[in-house]
Amino acid sequence: MKLGGATTPFFWNTMGLFNFLTKDIAIDLGTANTLIIHKDQVVVDEPSIIALDRNTNKVLAVGRQAMMMHEKTNDNIKTIRPLKDGVIADFTAAELMMRGLIKMMDKGNSFFSPALRMVICIPSGITEVEKRAVKDSAEHAGAREVYMVHEPIAAAIGIGIDIEQPNGSLVVDIGGGTTEVAIISLSGIVVENSIRVAGDEFTRDIKDYLLREHKLVIGERSAEQIKIQVGSALPELENPPADFEIRGRDQMTGIPKEILINYSEIAYALDSSITKIEVAIMETLQRAPAELSGDIFHNGIHLAGGGAMLHGLDKRIEKKTQLKVHVADDPLKAVIRGTGEILKNLEKYRPVLI
Ligand code: ADP
Ligand code: MG
Repeated sequence: MKLGGATTPFFWNTMGLFNFLTKDIAIDLGTANTLIIHKDQVVVDEPSIIALDRNTNKVLAVGRQAMMMHEKTNDNIKTIRPLKDGVIADFTAAELMMRGLIKMMDKGNSFFSPALRMVICIPSGITEVEKRAVKDSAEHAGAREVYMVHEPIAAAIGIGIDIEQPNGSLVVDIGGGTTEVAIISLSGIVVENSIRVAGDEFTRDIKDYLLREHKLVIGERSAEQIKIQVGSALPELENPPADFEIRGRDQMTGIPKEILINYSEIAYALDSSITKIEVAIMETLQRAPAELSGDIFHNGIHLAGGGAMLHGLDKRIEKKTQLKVHVADDPLKAVIRGTGEILKNLEKYRPVLI
């Protein structure tokens, strides 16, 4: 007898006890963070990173635990972020990471590994080969049925937009690797623009800036901390964050040192990357069919993804576009909320599945 999925005899299911043999999950496999929804609950919310033994390739840690090792490894350990620019760059690592994160859901009490039905979101600009890679990785990680959906659609649903209406919405998802700009109407993407400038690039800008202006060498995690605490899209904010202390290595002397960083400096460091995002939004608006432009004039722009939380970004985009900008509630979870909604209503959302 085969356990799990459609072949499970009904009495196993009716016993309730064995319901865990099949499991529906929604997964947002992001460059920066992977989130999983099961039964309407976010059960996994971890950074997309894995730590492996360099010699045996044994998995040492995934998610937050692996992130703590990042940039602090010795010769025997390597940390890998398997996704780059929204797509899988390292297949083996991606599979191992997905497996590890899925296992986390069960908190170690899974005796059987259940058959998974999975809805997974993918960037809208993804190629056929990349799509295949995502599907293969999901299958290798245990999925029996894999459905895919374009991220901007999931984001729009997660924001609460009724995507089935003949009413244009402009969604901007600023993640780790990519910023996806899309105009959505009637359950489809009408105009789409994806650029490889997002959170990771902001972090690099900050690292470069500190080296150039303060001769301070810092790691990726410190630079991200600065971004989250005092990152700004505008040199002057109404409610400015307090200055932030950061430690690193003096480039000249090699001695550890600490400096105070002000948000205006970071606004300066991020300016050119943010301009690229503004340009991507402007180009998308210019390509919009006129009727949808009218809708967007009325509906404004919706921001999602971790980058949407950058201080002053909404105000800056409002100034540039003259449109009202709305930041999604809990922007880091907009995509997974939408993906979870699709999982719950697979029939209704069949038109958006790939
Ligand atoms: P992805 O979907 O690509 O995994 P996310 O939507 O999870 O990306 O966003 C992650 C990005 O958001 C990271 O680059 C992270 O540094 C950034 N981020 C998180 N919180 C903030 C914040 N408060 N301000 C600015 N950037 C943030
Ligand atoms: Mg994302």
